[in-house]
Amino acid sequence: MIFVIAEHKDGKLRPITSELLVFAQRVGRDFGQPITAVVLAANTAGLVEELKTRKIDRIMTLEHTELGEYNPDSYAHILKSIFEKEKPFLVLVGHTTQGMDFAPRLTVALRRPLIAGCVEYEKQGDRLILTRQIFNAKMNMKTSARGEPPYFATASPGAFPGDEVESGGNPEIVAPVVEPGASRRKIVERLEAQKGQADLTSAPIIVSGGRGLKQKENFHLVFELAEAIGGSVGASRPVVDAEWLPREYQIGSSGQTVAPRLYIAVGISGAIQHLVGMQTSRCIVAINKDAEAPIFKIAHYGIVDDLFKIVPALTKICNDLKRV
Ligand SMILES: Cc1cc2nc3c(=O)[nH]c(=O)nc-3n(C[C@H](O)[C@H](O)[C@H](O)COP(=O)(O)OP(=O)(O)OC[C@H]3O[C@@H](n4cnc5c(N)ncnc54)[C@H](O)[C@@H]3O)c2cc1C
Repeated sequence: MIFVIAEHKDGKLRPITSELLVFAQRVGRDFGQPITAVVLAANTAGLVEELKTRKIDRIMTLEHTELGEYNPDSYAHILKSIFEKEKPFLVLVGHTTQGMDFAPRLTVALRRPLIAGCVEYEKQGDRLILTRQIFNAKMNMKTSARGEPPYFATASPGAFPGDEVESGGNPEIVAPVVEPGASRRKIVERLEAQKGQADLTSAPIIVSGGRGLKQKENFHLVFELAEAIGGSVGASRPVVDAEWLPREYQIGSSGQTVAPRLYIAVGISGAIQHLVGMQTSRCIVAINKDAEAPIFKIAHYGIVDDLFKIVPALTKICNDLKRV
């Protein structure tokens, strides 16, 4: 059995959950393993409705009033007891802030290795080989866990196409009684990012600006294109360091990791620290006047020209198209 730990927020599944299900569906087909989606929450009804449409074999609801707020101690405690009974083949968790918070605790408690940040897998005979990125995504490393299952892995956001999740299942729903155990922490308050600052990690379209915009006053070009195309705004680090935009906008190794369907890089050179934060985007369009800029090595489409000419023209085209 492959277990997918569903990640959710405010009663809705997060995009990483569909990506994990795609990962699970592919591994499941290759290894002949059924899939269970596991939901931990105070009330799982809405999440189960969302999951029910996906092609999975079972949904396991782990409900408890203390699971109203995410708590890594409770997650690790509950999942440990489940996996001691269930004997999974593979457990998949998102390589997200939440996943990387509880997955190491869980695997240490079970004395199993965790293969973190996976972006692909292959089947070698009966062995599951997982590919993970190392050294700031400069290299890929193929890893297989020694010994018998269960294997535990986290998957990087954007590595698997969430919109390719197969639907049409008729999953059995099981609801074991859970006991969250003693926690060493208590959530005192949850502070949301200010309104208007998009959660870039789940944005489907991002227009991101870099130092090529020259000065803060020019950044409206990026906002206008983002608005015209229905996207969110991101930025490279120099933009944030120069205080043209707040830190929440920064994408890269010391900022957010994003994986939108479309990423438009405007005046961004493509330094490795930026690439690690966006290179799993489905379609990357780079606008840069320097044809040798490293961003073109990973871009699917490149426009080698002056951004001050190209960006307003693109914005106009998008706005004109909306009027048609
Ligand atoms: C520890 C560490 C962590 C870091 N973390 C991050 C991070 O999280 N995110 C991040 O982004 N960076 C990060 N950096 C910085 C990173 O190394 C780069 O310096 C940064 O990404 C460069 O930003 P940029 O591409 O906007 O600027 P530049 O490298 O200066 O590139 C500007 C680009 O704009 C182009 N350009 C200029 N004028 C025009 C024009 N008129 N039309 C079209 N193109 C034009 C230029 O050809 C150039 O390619 C980090 C660095 C360190 C050391």
